[in-house]
Amino acid sequence: MYDYLIVGAGLFGAVFAREATDRGKNVLVIDKRDHIAGNVYTREVEGINVHEYGAHIFHTNNKKVWDHINRFAEFNRFTNSPVANYKGELYSLPFNMYTFNRMWGVITPDEAREKIEEQRKAAGITEPRNLEEQAISLVGTDIYEKLIRGYTEKQWGRPCSELPAFIIKRLPVRYTFDNNYFNALYQGIPMGGYTKMVANMLDGIEVRTGVDYLDDKDKLDALAERVIFTGPVDAYFGYELGALQYRSVRFETEVLDTPNYQGNAAVNFTDSETPYTRIIEHKFFEFGQQPKTVISREYSSEWKQGDEPYYPVNDEKNSALYAQYRKKAEAENKVVFGGRLGEYKYYDMDKVIESALACAEREL
Ligand code: UDP
Repeated sequence: MYDYLIVGAGLFGAVFAREATDRGKNVLVIDKRDHIAGNVYTREVEGINVHEYGAHIFHTNNKKVWDHINRFAEFNRFTNSPVANYKGELYSLPFNMYTFNRMWGVITPDEAREKIEEQRKAAGITEPRNLEEQAISLVGTDIYEKLIRGYTEKQWGRPCSELPAFIIKRLPVRYTFDNNYFNALYQGIPMGGYTKMVANMLDGIEVRTGVDYLDDKDKLDALAERVIFTGPVDAYFGYELGALQYRSVRFETEVLDTPNYQGNAAVNFTDSETPYTRIIEHKFFEFGQQPKTVISREYSSEWKQGDEPYYPVNDEKNSALYAQYRKKAEAENKVVFGGRLGEYKYYDMDKVIESALACAEREL
């Protein structure tokens, strides 16, 4: 008999498992995949740590989370500065003075502000009600058209006018020459890959991979006093209220016989015609000097049963459905739901850790 059965060996599960074990609890971690680390899983190819489920760049403002994660890995000084490619024109991200200069030839912050204000006024937006209006009011119509609209509609498969404004607020807008994509005090990539980091978290803990909880729920439930479930909350309830929507992502990964394909870890293709959203060149996350390189083209699609769910679609319709599932989840007295899929939330890694630590405080 275990104190806790933890379903999912991703970040939420691994953080909780470590906390519980360190407080003397007996835990079993299971995962339906054949590996640990969930979507932060990295696999070594040609000496390069490949982010198999999409690029993960750790960043946080929370010192407690940063100190916590540093117990399990040493972080390098990687700073995310993606480049946007719009039909061969290259722009710096996030939106900053380099972007404004390339777009309009403006030199000073005041000139950039004036240009944006002029475009915002012309669009007649006062209170932004959706992503399109929010984007135009933040950076004007030219940047919206060239760097936001195509990319966002590819990533989400919905018009920008039907998406929540908060998604675009993830991106900083700066009137300085600063290409750091994140406003975070701490940032980096765990040296040696995320899989090693999660393996360190799970050190000494019993883990069984290739075990599908929902296929064998009753037998597995009987093994433990309590269950921490980090899979999709709607799947847990057999989709009885209907399926929540997710975006899924497919990667086309290639090994190339060149040391440097695109000169940067991430290049976003922001036009509507290019079928993929971005190309990741994995070696640059760790300043790799390998003779070859590995790249992944990222294609976004609507999730259907059988696909991997990635991004929750936190629009009104899905938020309302999730609120109903959440009520049901709260009524399950033996089970706690956590993480991106368990809480149906567009979580960054640091927020997942924060939430797992808070869950451990409450539970333990
Ligand atoms: N975005 C954009 N153009 C870009 C990069 C991002 O319009 O070149 C918008 C897009 O709406 C996206 C959002 O910003 O959904 C958040 O991007 P982020 O890079 O935070 O997404 P993630 O890395 O989580 O996929």
